[in-house]
Amino acid sequence: SQIFLNGTFVNREDAKLSVFDHGLLYGDGIFEGIRVYDGNVFKLREHIRRLYDSAKSILIQIPYSQDEMPELVCETVRRNQLSSAYIRLVVTRGNGDLGLSPYLCPTAQVFIIAEQLNMFAPSLYENGIKAITAATRRNRTDALNPKIKSLNYLNNVLIKIEAHAAGANEALVLNSEGYVVEGSGENIFLVRDEILYTPPAYLGALEGITRATVMELAAELNLTVKEEPFTRHDVYVADEVFLTGTAAEMVPVVEVDERVIGDGRPGAVTKKLHKAFQVCTRRDGVQ
Ligand code: PLP
Repeated sequence: SQIFLNGTFVNREDAKLSVFDHGLLYGDGIFEGIRVYDGNVFKLREHIRRLYDSAKSILIQIPYSQDEMPELVCETVRRNQLSSAYIRLVVTRGNGDLGLSPYLCPTAQVFIIAEQLNMFAPSLYENGIKAITAATRRNRTDALNPKIKSLNYLNNVLIKIEAHAAGANEALVLNSEGYVVEGSGENIFLVRDEILYTPPAYLGALEGITRATVMELAAELNLTVKEEPFTRHDVYVADEVFLTGTAAEMVPVVEVDERVIGDGRPGAVTKKLHKAFQVCTRRDGVQ
């Protein structure tokens, strides 16, 4: 594949960065995951906006303007002749010395990869996944503010390891007060008595673009969505649970910590929203 790397396109095997890049040395960088459906880059503007917000927050100067970036993403997709793809757009602090100081890293590095990604097996989208709650907690006030999509995803990696160790497909994260915030890389929704609930982002979740999309679709379908804090108990007794994310899309959860959710099958509201989601991913894109 052809990878965009600092202004040029290079072959996969030539797409290399220095070991002195602070993205590698310190996780000092930011990223976006973006999806292409039927040749449309889904919610591109929203992803680019979040990237520039993350950059601003951690004082990274991206060497391209916010208006130039969408074209770089689209060009990467075109060069790879992909009609469906997962795009990884990464900005690192750049090369510095072995010290922490970002001020010795003169220019940020930018790369864009467009490839295929299958987060869960197709049967799991049909039948639902099994989740646990992770012991790793989410802190919503430290420098790893979940609103910043930084390259520092060690917490999320540890959460995935916990899920794997428990024989589950995914793990849910609680914040330090015990409220459910999200999955390792997905937002969470519950359905109870036909009403949707999702935790407010301030509890420690990323403000997911898929989450916002699902909230819009729910409104179009006359479903009520409440942004309210909830605990594990509320998850266990929900009629339906599903996760949303660019990589995961919409995936039903049918078991959490050995509690069967609803009747153990993806529920009616989840299915209805999933249908609407599939239509919208093919409609609201940038060619
Ligand atoms: N939460 C975390 C921690 C994530 O990394 C992601 C993925 O980007 C999400 C939630 C879902 O966000 P989005 O729907 O914008 O991909």
